[in-house]
Amino acid sequence: MVIAIDGPAGSGKTTVAKLLAAKLGIFYLDTGATYRALTYLALKEKVSLSDAHALQTLAKGINLSFRDSAVYLDAEDVTAGIRTPQIDKSISQVVSYPQVREVMVKLQRQIAKGKDCIVEGRDITTVVFPNAKLKFYLDADPLVRAKRRYDELKAKGTDIGFEEVKNDLEKRDHSDKNREVGPLIKSKDAIVIDTTPFGISETVEFIAEYIQKEN
Ligand code: C5P
Repeated sequence: MVIAIDGPAGSGKTTVAKLLAAKLGIFYLDTGATYRALTYLALKEKVSLSDAHALQTLAKGINLSFRDSAVYLDAEDVTAGIRTPQIDKSISQVVSYPQVREVMVKLQRQIAKGKDCIVEGRDITTVVFPNAKLKFYLDADPLVRAKRRYDELKAKGTDIGFEEVKNDLEKRDHSDKNREVGPLIKSKDAIVIDTTPFGISETVEFIAEYIQKEN
């Protein structure tokens, strides 16, 4: 069984999906982390972000694994390294290429294959798992989302101002919603949840109850 969750950055979907998966005792796949790891690798290997073919080749050879809430690229733990402002700024270009997305979508399906899991991202309800048993779209006020992202970066000791975080998030929102392949859209059959007034735990409870009702 796949439970698909989409939504923009800062909507709370990563935290919610993680907690929900722990509560239900099922696997959790953060597809944003797969694109982040690819961007990390491209920067490390100095692959030009405007070379779609080279990025596709890199994606085909990527060796990613998810273990104990950590993300590994080969044997390297990249969990923290893929969540930096530098990756935030570079990723939109990497994820915009259809040939790169094609390879990554295949990889995401392969990772989830045969598992009961919660998969979250931008195009999970529409492209990666359009037949998912349950679909959710999480959203929140843009300022609240920027504040969540800012707090997350500050908690890690990142030297960045709120305005920069807000501008980066607006840019990512714009390219996520307007790219030709796999854009962020509200799937017609997704349950939309505005997390602005809710805490994370309320959202997790709401979804968990919904899943129980449907099963
Ligand atoms: O979810 P997160 O913010 O970590 O995702 C990082 C970036 O990866 C997003 O801004 C988005 O551009 C991209 N992404 C995507 N498709 C997905 C998941 C993430 O294009 N399924």
